[in-house]
Amino acid sequence: MAARTLSLLVFVLFISASSACIYEFGNRDEAAAKAGGHYDYSYNGLDWPGSFPQCRGKKQSPVMLPGTGAAAEGLKAPAAESFDGTVTNPTILNNTEGLKAPAAKSTFDYGTVTNPIIINNGHTLQVPLPADFKSDVKIPVLGDIATAKATSVLQAGSSGKATYVKAAPAQLHFHTHSEHVVSGYVYPMEMHIVHFVKKDQLPACGDAGCPVVLGVMLALTNDESKVTPELRKVIEAMPLNEGRNATIQGALDVDALLPKDRSYFTYEGSLTTPPCSEGLLWHVLTNPIYITDDLLTRYQEAVGNYDCPHSAAAAAAAAKNANAKNAKVTTESGPADNSGTEGGFQAPPADAKGCVKLADGHNYRAAQPLGSRTILLAA
Ligand SMILES: [Zn+2]
Repeated sequence: MAARTLSLLVFVLFISASSACIYEFGNRDEAAAKAGGHYDYSYNGLDWPGSFPQCRGKKQSPVMLPGTGAAAEGLKAPAAESFDGTVTNPTILNNTEGLKAPAAKSTFDYGTVTNPIIINNGHTLQVPLPADFKSDVKIPVLGDIATAKATSVLQAGSSGKATYVKAAPAQLHFHTHSEHVVSGYVYPMEMHIVHFVKKDQLPACGDAGCPVVLGVMLALTNDESKVTPELRKVIEAMPLNEGRNATIQGALDVDALLPKDRSYFTYEGSLTTPPCSEGLLWHVLTNPIYITDDLLTRYQEAVGNYDCPHSAAAAAAAAKNANAKNAKVTTESGPADNSGTEGGFQAPPADAKGCVKLADGHNYRAAQPLGSRTILLAA
C-alpha cells in the first residue's frame, strides 16, 4: 500500500498539466529559456509580454473591429443576414474618424495546391503553401515605391494614387475562437492566410519580406450545404497530435476557403503569436465562411489541452504506459478511428512525448487596445 502511494506521488510530481501547447520538459520558464521562447494559450496571450517584449507594443493584434453599419455610412456594407449569428448593438470602438475607404483595394485570388501537407505544431494547424503556388494577391502602395512600406495605404485614407505590388502566400492556419472581434461578434474560428511582400516588389521589405495577413471568420451553421467541401477536406485531414503531419489528398482549391464577397477591414497590427512583431498589414474580411459543429469540435480536439511528463524518464514511462493502454483499447473496440463520429468519441492517443490530451482546446490571443490606429473599410 505504501509503495503504491509512493508511486502515485511520484507520478503526480512528474506529470503536470499544460494548455494547448507542450513543454518538452520542465516548467514554463525552464522551457522558455531552453527553447529561446516558448509560449502557450493558457492565458490567451496575456502572459506573453513578460517573455516577449514586442508583445507590449502599441500596434498589436488582434483588435476589435467596428460595425460596418453607421461607421461605414456612404460605403457598401455587407448584408446583415449574410451569416447565421445574430448581431445586436454593433459597437463602434475607438475610431474617432469613422471608417474611410482606402485609396485602392487589395485583391485576393488563389489557385489550387495538390496533396498539401497539414502540420499540427502544437500552436495551430498549418498548411504550408509551396513556392510555385499560383495566386494573384495584390496590395496597393502609396508614395515612392523605392522607399514605401507595405502599410503605406493606411496613411493616405481615401485619397492618393496607388501602385500595386504582389504578396506571395506562404501558409494558412486556424484559430479558435476568432482572434478579431467583428462588429462585437466573436466567431467560433478564424483562418489566417500569411503572405510576404518580397524585396523585389518593395525594397523596404528587405530579405525577410513584409508580412500581409488575410483573416477570414468562420461562422457556425447547421446547413451542411453552406460549408465548402474544401474546408471539410482541411479539417478532416488535421492530425490530432502535436508534431504530426498529414497529407490532404488530391487538389485543394484555396480560393474556395474564402467567401465570394471580399470586402475587408484593413489596419496596421502585429503577429498574433510571439514574438508579436509589428508593421504587419492586416485584412479581415467582413463576411464569413461557414463551419458545422462537428468540424469545429474536431479542430478543438486538435489544439486540445495536454498533460505532459516533466522529465525524460517520466516521458518514456508515460509513453510506454499510454501505448499499452491504446493497444488495449484497439483490441477491445477495433482499430482507433479519429475521423468519424460513428463509434462515439474516442480520445486521441498519447503522443511520442507521452503527452495525453485532457480536453478540447483553444488558440486565440485576446483583443489588444486599438489606440489611435486607423481602420479602413474596403467594401
Ligand atoms: Zn494566426
